[in-house]
Parts: sequence; C-alpha cells; structure tokens
Amino acid sequence: MKMLIASQNKNKVKELNQLLASSGIECVNLNDYNDQEDVEETGTTFIENARIKAQFFTNKYRIPVLAEDSGIEAEALNQRPGIYSKRYSGKGNHENNLKLLAELKDKDNRNVRFVAAIVVAFPDGKTFEFEGEVKGVASYELRGDLGFGYDPLFIPNGYQQTLGELGLEVKHQISHRANAIKKLKEHLHEIAHYQ
Ligand code: IMP
Repeated sequence: MKMLIASQNKNKVKELNQLLASSGIECVNLNDYNDQEDVEETGTTFIENARIKAQFFTNKYRIPVLAEDSGIEAEALNQRPGIYSKRYSGKGNHENNLKLLAELKDKDNRNVRFVAAIVVAFPDGKTFEFEGEVKGVASYELRGDLGFGYDPLFIPNGYQQTLGELGLEVKHQISHRANAIKKLKEHLHEIAHYQ
C-alpha cells in the first residue's frame, strides 16, 4: 500500500517515516510531489485539523493520505496553546518556547501534554482516526537540541531530561506521535485492505 504523508514539517515526516518503517506501508510525502500547498487549519480540534488536511490531499491526488495535527497543552493555561501551538508567538519555534516558559513563569502547575491526531483518509471519504498523547512537565529553561518544536522544554513523566536531550530513540518509545501510530498499527490490516 502506498500512502502520502501530508506534512511539510521535515521533523514530523522523519518521525512518521521511522515509526511506520516496519508497517509495510510505502510512504511518500509532499516533497516527493513538489507540493508546497498549505491547507488552512480551520478546525477547532486536533482531529478536525488532521481530517481537513488528509481529505484535502486525498481529493487532490486520489491516493490514501495520512495527515497529522499536533501540539502542546499546558494545564495552568487552560490547555493553551493547543491547536495554536505552531502559531503561538507569531514567530518561530524558539520564540514559541520562550513565550510558553514566560507564561508558565509564576505557575506552580507545570503539567503539560503533547497531543497528536492522525487521520488516514481515502478518496471515497472514508477516514481512520487516531489520537495519542504523552504527559510531562515543563522545564524552567530550554535544554537540548535533539528534537524540534517544544521538545527542549518537555520533560516526559518518569524522566529528568527534556525530549531535546533524550533524543529520538527514547521519543519513539513514548511520544504522542508514537502512541497514535501504535493505535494505527492495531488497525493496519483494515487500513491496508480498505478498497
Ligand atoms: P502543526 O504542524 O500545525 O501540527 O503544528 C504542530 C506544533 O506543535 C508545532 O509548533 C510543533 O513544533 C509542535 N509539536 C508537535 N509535535 C511536536 C513534537 O513532537 N515535539 C515538539 N513540538 C511538537
């Protein structure tokens, strides 16, 4: 089965490719199609946004598409930035991290979680939808350059280091993305034999 991973985020694509390596699915991504088209994320949940992206690209290319929408939620901030994680500061990843640290500066509750919604969409409208999470606490400063996005401030529960320090081998065992893909793999037969 061939599936298009609909993301322009190189780090996400790399992680998804690695997590799906043993699945038997042949993964291509938007770079292989030279496609820079950005789909407006107008949904109010991670799943809705992933579904919008997956359905857009499956309609465009008429092949199964996997799209993912993810982000970080802080308990003390009423789950913000949530679906706005990428656009949080209006600038880049580093500024997003600094803004989150600043907002949490005086908070005792530093509980955060990463969420990943993954939708596989088929040209006939059928979707398979999965959500994964990983819980942790926000560090007080940015540490480590092994990850991307908010990894330098995310200390998974049970660990002392940030995901930026722990690296991909550990991240693949515990991450929101890994947990969503684990659920997808439980339905792999159904997905691979759909249509
Ligand atoms: P999206 O591309 O709209 O799904 O945006 C995802 C946002 O959440 C970006 O700001 C990412 O940096 C952040 N994010 C998602 N997954 C991760 C992760 O695994 N580590 C760190 N940040 C992440």
